[in-house]
Amino acid sequence: MAGQIIKVQDHFWRFEEDGVRSFLFEGETRAMLVDTGFGTLPLKKMVTELTDKPVFVVNTHTDGDHTGCNRDFDAVYMHPAEMDYYVRKNPQVYRRESLHAIWEGDIIDLGYWKFEVLLTPGHTPGSIMLLDREKRMLISGDTIQDGNIFMFSDGRNLPAFIATMERMAKMSGEFDTVWPSHSTCPITPAIIPGLLAGAKDLEAGKLTPQEPPWEMPCKLYRCDVAAFCY
Ligand SMILES: [Zn+2]
Repeated sequence: MAGQIIKVQDHFWRFEEDGVRSFLFEGETRAMLVDTGFGTLPLKKMVTELTDKPVFVVNTHTDGDHTGCNRDFDAVYMHPAEMDYYVRKNPQVYRRESLHAIWEGDIIDLGYWKFEVLLTPGHTPGSIMLLDREKRMLISGDTIQDGNIFMFSDGRNLPAFIATMERMAKMSGEFDTVWPSHSTCPITPAIIPGLLAGAKDLEAGKLTPQEPPWEMPCKLYRCDVAAFCY
């Protein structure tokens, strides 16, 4: 599948790239690109054609399918809890001079958009979500989604994932739409209780292991609303 640009609404686009997506939010004086995909799309060129505002990157987390074009941008923001993982996993796109910190509770104020940073570890140590309280929308990274959630190998932590999902269940009255990096988009907060229950069942050994769809050193555990690669 070739890359696809989808205009969601004024000042908001999503880029579909072989199973992963990035988001572009245009503000009054600058624009925010959430994640940069595998690196197979010319994202820098694509965003420059959509907006004349300077673009900075915010990474929901730094698995390789979210950082592919990081090197092309002069400002890349992430939670510092993610930086060790980022540097180790992404030496080919890491540039020290472009790396900046965002913290839990920071407000990324673009004028039209106003996103609050939530630290939501589990999938990776410094995974974040972005909540626009006024627009009642949540950018959820890989953590809230209805596809395959990778919970095996370096950096994953199931107790942290469960703690994050408990937090998000409590917050679920604060947003109407959830914009994940993979699988169905958008989804609604109605998925959160199922993810929480599924993660708890996984931890308790109650889910049945199946062979994963690709050759991966893990098993696939389906719950009611998604699947865990664990
Ligand atoms: Zn991903």
